[in-house]
Amino acid sequence: MILKFLTWMANRHLRTKSGDRVPCPLCCLKHIGQARALMLEARKGYPNSFWFALGHLAEAEDEVLHMSQDLASLIREERKTLERNPGYQVDFDSLVENVSISANLDPTKFLRGNMP
Ligand SMILES: [Zn+2]
Repeated sequence: MILKFLTWMANRHLRTKSGDRVPCPLCCLKHIGQARALMLEARKGYPNSFWFALGHLAEAEDEVLHMSQDLASLIREERKTLERNPGYQVDFDSLVENVSISANLDPTKFLRGNMP
């Protein structure tokens, strides 16, 4: 199932004429998820993970900038708040929900094996 999903993800990305990958809301969700996992690690005693989490949030912003400036700004605000205050609890669930709604994605479909 996971392999099927990853293969589908890799094949669904469009390329520009110059070969750059077109930004993708699913990759945004992946970066938000990775940032959450890294923040949990950071708070378990792996402080370097904090910086990696910030990087993933920045990547998440880039993935939706073409789709919605407001959405990218929402993620950016969470990232900048976390950067100023490492104890800040990012509302990862809210970010995922906002991206999913904006991109018209239903995450429960993935759990049933139905790709959008
Ligand atoms: Zn993607």
